[in-house]
Amino acid sequence: MTNKDLANIIFPNLEHDVDYYENKYPERCLDKDACVTRFAPSPTGYMHLGGFYQALIDYNIAKNSNGVFFLRNEDTDQKREVENAVKLIMKTLNHYDINPDEYEFEGNIVGNYGPYIQSKRKEIYHTYIKKLIEMGRAYPCFCTKEELDEMRNLQESRKKRTGYYGIYAKCRKLSIEEQIKKINSGEPFVIRFKSNGDFDNKIVVDDEVKGKLFLSENDIDDVIMKSGDMLPTYHFAHIVDDHLMHTTHVVRGEEWLPSVTKHIEMFDTFGFKRPKYVHTPLIIKKEGQTVRKISKRKDPEASMSYYEEKGYPTLAVIEALMTIINSNYEEWHALNPDKSFIDFKVSPKKMSSSGALFDLEKLNNISRDIISKMSKEELLEKSMDWSSKYDRELFDLINSDKKYYMSVINIEREQKKPRKDYTTYKDIKNCIWYMYDKLFYSEQNNYEWQKITDKEEIKKVLNTYFEKYYSEKDDKDTWFSKMKDACDSLGYCSNMKEYKLNSDDYKGSIADFSMIIRVAMTTKSTTPDLYEVLKILGKDRINKRVNAI
Ligand code: GLU
Repeated sequence: MTNKDLANIIFPNLEHDVDYYENKYPERCLDKDACVTRFAPSPTGYMHLGGFYQALIDYNIAKNSNGVFFLRNEDTDQKREVENAVKLIMKTLNHYDINPDEYEFEGNIVGNYGPYIQSKRKEIYHTYIKKLIEMGRAYPCFCTKEELDEMRNLQESRKKRTGYYGIYAKCRKLSIEEQIKKINSGEPFVIRFKSNGDFDNKIVVDDEVKGKLFLSENDIDDVIMKSGDMLPTYHFAHIVDDHLMHTTHVVRGEEWLPSVTKHIEMFDTFGFKRPKYVHTPLIIKKEGQTVRKISKRKDPEASMSYYEEKGYPTLAVIEALMTIINSNYEEWHALNPDKSFIDFKVSPKKMSSSGALFDLEKLNNISRDIISKMSKEELLEKSMDWSSKYDRELFDLINSDKKYYMSVINIEREQKKPRKDYTTYKDIKNCIWYMYDKLFYSEQNNYEWQKITDKEEIKKVLNTYFEKYYSEKDDKDTWFSKMKDACDSLGYCSNMKEYKLNSDDYKGSIADFSMIIRVAMTTKSTTPDLYEVLKILGKDRINKRVNAI
């Protein structure tokens, strides 16, 4: 009996051999330096910020080299699979316009290297596992859970490394006859990789982020195929996939670094070209004086849905992540304000190896800046899109009169130093509600009167000002000089210097005077430019508001 017999007994019905797949998925026709990257999430129904961060790196590396960025669904752990998980991943990538060149979605395969869903590649994995068995580099293992627990306890009591290796790898020693007998008698088994490594040997692993690492050779006989559904484990599946799909750069979280020597041994065993590894740092956040890993359980901002629901412009999230991918991004962006983030070439060597610090305050600043620079048309479109999903009231307000909405959001916009009121689309309503009668009169208004609080005085100021001095037709200078005239005529002082010297002689300054008008019209003591606010409100609305005091 030979390894070949064993391989045939385990996989009697495979249609093809390894050569078939090697020919089916030939080298890609790309430029010499083109990079092929992949985003390979497991469909858990949750899109983590860290996953998107990796996808952004993948995308950048591929786009900057005329390469290919593809999406692979790693669903071999079917117990963890969640319905619609792939939809969420695709939706998120689409939302940010980080679209894969190749993918498989809702029955549609785009690309020549699919299937891009691991559970559909079972036959391929079996073919390669069969080959390993024939080579004597994989074997069936019949150890039960109890036996494995016992082995671990023994290792712990002996203060040895845990794992299936060396003298502890019981099934490694079975003869082919014994293996076949057990299989024929129906004993459940997994397939393990047979490592040839020596833990005391150090090998050099080149990581694009961390540089040269001296790591102990792998000597663990890892499970590469599970019993039951006979699907491969991640360790094995991604080797075959990244080989056949011709991935040049494996961008993945640094939590995979401890298993990289296993992967390297498998690549080498098959004689596959090793990909370059980009083990990305964890995303961390500040909490008080310490920093910690951003957590799915504790931090709502760990989920990509957070940013969409809050109404951050997609570019803000991307820019914030770019600043933590490479710390020189900000400087580059300041020097190249008109270039797209995609023109910046991500350099793995410049990634932090100790954690990427994500700061929501920073994101907020970036976001405010981006929104302030949008044209009114762009902000109309973006806020309509957002509100259609997340804020029906705002959506209806916008739709009731788009032109009016644009004039409201355009106050102090489209100018050199635009106003930065809105951090997210969600903030817009909170900043502009008073421009809409429907909201202005819907509740008891809480007027934020400042120095002048006496109702009679307030009414007098408003009546005089609006009857005698205010005209919608005035340009800004005329408007302001009339405001000053009104101010002086009613016992306030339009000259700040004079007011400071003799404040007791006046009811208040021009600032106190205009504050009365501002608060009466909006209830707020801080608003964008009052001239614009009045102009947009218009005479009828102004009169109604004066009468409401
Ligand atoms: N499916 C793995 C994960 O979700 C992917 C790791 C990789 O990119 O190779 O962590």
